[in-house]
Amino acid sequence: MDQTKWHQLTANDLLHALGVHAEQGLSEEDAAARQERYGRNELSEGKRVSPLALFFNQFKDFMVLVLAGATLVSGMLGEYLDAITIIAIILLNGVLGFVQEFRAERSLRALKQLSAPMAKVVRSGKLCHINAHELVPGDVVLMESGDRLPADIRWISTSSCYVEESALTGESVPVNKHHQAIKQDELPLGDLKNIGFMGTMMTRGTGKGVVIRTGMDTEMGKIAHMIENTESMDTPLQHRLEQLGKILIIVALALTVMVVVAGILHGQPAMGMFLAGVSLAVAAIPEGLPAIVTIALALGVQRMIKRKAIVRKLPSVETLGCASVICSDKTGTLTQNKMTVTRLWMGGRALEVSGEGFEPTGQVTEEGKPLDLKNDQALRRFLQISALCNNAVLSESYPSELRSAKGSGKQAKKAKEVKKQGSEELKPVWDIKGDPTEGALLVLAAKLGMTPQTLAGMYARMEEYPFDSERKRMSVIVTHQGGRNVLAKGAPDVLLNRCSYILWDGKVVPLTAGLKQKALAANEAMAKQALRVLGLAYRELKASEPAAQESAVESQLIFVGLAGMIDPPRREARDAIAVCRRAGIKTVMITGDHQLTAEAIAHQLGIIPHGGQTVNGVQLAQMDDDALDKVIDNIYVYARVSPEHKLRIVKSLQRKGHVVAMTGDGVNDAPAIKAADIGIAMGITGTDVSKEASALILSDDNFATIVAAIEEGRGIYENIRKFIRYLLASNVGEILVMFFAMMLGLPLPLVPIQILWVNLVTDGLPAMALGVDQPEKDLMEHRPRAAKENIFARRLGWKIISRGLLIGVCTLIAFWLTWSVDPNSAGQLTKAQSVAFATLVMAQLIHVFDCRSSRSIFHRNMFQNRYLVLSVASSLLLLLAVLYVEPLQPIFKTVPLHFRDWAITFVMAGIPTFLMGIGSVLSGQRSGKSGGAKPAYTSNRRAA
Ligand code: ATP
Repeated sequence: MDQTKWHQLTANDLLHALGVHAEQGLSEEDAAARQERYGRNELSEGKRVSPLALFFNQFKDFMVLVLAGATLVSGMLGEYLDAITIIAIILLNGVLGFVQEFRAERSLRALKQLSAPMAKVVRSGKLCHINAHELVPGDVVLMESGDRLPADIRWISTSSCYVEESALTGESVPVNKHHQAIKQDELPLGDLKNIGFMGTMMTRGTGKGVVIRTGMDTEMGKIAHMIENTESMDTPLQHRLEQLGKILIIVALALTVMVVVAGILHGQPAMGMFLAGVSLAVAAIPEGLPAIVTIALALGVQRMIKRKAIVRKLPSVETLGCASVICSDKTGTLTQNKMTVTRLWMGGRALEVSGEGFEPTGQVTEEGKPLDLKNDQALRRFLQISALCNNAVLSESYPSELRSAKGSGKQAKKAKEVKKQGSEELKPVWDIKGDPTEGALLVLAAKLGMTPQTLAGMYARMEEYPFDSERKRMSVIVTHQGGRNVLAKGAPDVLLNRCSYILWDGKVVPLTAGLKQKALAANEAMAKQALRVLGLAYRELKASEPAAQESAVESQLIFVGLAGMIDPPRREARDAIAVCRRAGIKTVMITGDHQLTAEAIAHQLGIIPHGGQTVNGVQLAQMDDDALDKVIDNIYVYARVSPEHKLRIVKSLQRKGHVVAMTGDGVNDAPAIKAADIGIAMGITGTDVSKEASALILSDDNFATIVAAIEEGRGIYENIRKFIRYLLASNVGEILVMFFAMMLGLPLPLVPIQILWVNLVTDGLPAMALGVDQPEKDLMEHRPRAAKENIFARRLGWKIISRGLLIGVCTLIAFWLTWSVDPNSAGQLTKAQSVAFATLVMAQLIHVFDCRSSRSIFHRNMFQNRYLVLSVASSLLLLLAVLYVEPLQPIFKTVPLHFRDWAITFVMAGIPTFLMGIGSVLSGQRSGKSGGAKPAYTSNRRAA
């Protein structure tokens, strides 16, 4: 098949060669058989780290190697039990690290899969959206502006079709594609104008093509390694933590060396001190931190997916928590995108339309009287344009059990019965495929019996000048009774500027300034009622007129009238906007729609506060950047703007120090989406280009989802802070207890195995459980944090050091209280070490609950996070096992504790949390008295 010269074939020969019908496409069975034969439409993936390599990577760490070496030496010196246990602990640690990293990697891979491209394909006569990986040679695909080509295709019909092929040819000017056969035999890729290549991008127009090559057989497959997604998924926080990790290693090592030296100077045996030092270094270095951060991010991302937000770039999870402005499109994001035409205006006549949703039942009435198409030429013209200058498809379907009424058998019989009885369930479900604005016009025409199908015999489409947000209009040329007509629709103000005539009282008359004013006034009146308004126009093309120039074709038009459609605001958007306000996040509406429509909807949603301003595209164009920067903080609605304006808005907001989230769906939105701190694309209506530029995709196109994602983003960041707080304070405590003991000339308060045990049991699971902790209630009551905020900001550094210090000192006191009873007895030393061990573990397990709150342990329900409760309970059980299970006692150098020992343990382990809790309550009361509101995060980042 590869040898075929696809470009030389005519469309018919091509379809014949691939065994497919242009309208029907392949059948599902045929497609499945072809997939068996040709494989999935995928480029082979780059190298992946194998699980085995990942496992061995866990033991590459320098300190772990030193520990293993030291253990072997001590084993050779006869300490077999110690050596075996330490090796077992090292292995267990490795397994834990492996599980963490493996999970993190798998989640990241799943993430990539989620943003896999989709394709619009005709299968068994139906248009469906399938995962592009399922395409096979012979599939008929439909493409439009903004789509990335999912495979190599041969075009069979095109309309103003431009494709940007720089990914393949390096040529950045889009190529105008056509569907004629090309005679020449050998041609460079750039000249194969009837072929589209996988991975290239459609920038304008529409087209239909047949897949000729998939997967590694495509041109892109030949150079697959070049387009592999090499983008790093590391977040800035992960980078910073990596650097922090390096600093911590140095600090831990330095302290360890001091501990070892001090111990030896005070007469401790060198080998024992060395082993204790290495164990301490292994325990104190938070090697699990990066993996836990990744897991917290990845699990957060999973939660976001459940809330309909798909994160494409992991760093954006972090940025989400800093967002201070959300710039949102209106249609479909803040509104439901369920358009219904309710009012018409035609040559001074105001008409009403009844009916709801996409169901084509309803009437058009004038002063209460239903209108009839036969006697109303203007209305007929209006509806013809509505139905023909339109790419949407209206379809009906029945609930699944009724579909079987078509066949035979028991179920079909029952279904037929239900149908006969005329039950409620029988009602077909009407649905629109394509642009809902066009869908509404299609439904309007269908209400009076006019559909593209009924008109098909009389009109044939020759050419289309597609809609885009820049042009704000669309037109088609149709042939009718030997002549050619231009049918156009678009934003009324834009369209009226291209009209020279108007249909008034059934006659075509010049569009005088007065008549134009009347049309504009009617437009404004509808817009003020929050209606989205479209104008309709037409004209006949002269026989001599070429159809090539769209600006010439779309001129001298005859204005027919206006269609006003409702698009109700999303109910949840209003609540989400209120949440944003409380969270110190400003919501801005950016829309291509009319200013009055935009304002009316913004008021319904509560976007514009008292004194807030609206600006339209023309005013915006007149402002230079300085002028815009001066007023931007007070602008809440941008109306009739083009996508290029979005980039200016993003840049200006960023200059003012904001962290900007910006939504978009079209090709032209991509630059703004890319420039924004959080670029957001629409999952349903968004083009591939916008999705690829984005960091976040809303799978339901819903504004409320952005706010949910921000909430998750904030929660994830706070969780990361929680376990950093826990891990580091624990490690500080471990180091300090040893450090102080050696400085004071005391014996070792903990033996190496105990230190390693603490590291394994208390640091692993409880820390991970903190990573999935529920957010605090007032998470969305704070202003956003500054983007450059240090991870230790908001007193976290202080909390870590003070708590670590308290844990270290209290553990040492517990040790001393027990040891000093009989300093010369070896048995008493073991007991004191057991008490110190139990105190350190208990102090950490109490502290972990404390870390859940930015204030203190008393501010949250301790049992809310069941993972934490379970992990703490299992750590406690393991502690008891080490203390009381006899065979374990010689391994861990422990003895059972008695009442006095436990009393010391509990008191000393509880003191750090108790003291800090009291401190926090007192300081809370003080700030309460001084009338301070809840602690607010700082608002600006670049200023920081
Ligand atoms: P958003 O609020 O998401 O920016 P919008 O639909 O208001 O969306 P655009 O899609 O840029 O903004 O549309 C701008 C204007 O173009 C609309 O107000 C409408 O008058 C007109 N328009 C929209 N869709 C079509 C279409 N399919 N054909 C012709 N004109 C259209």
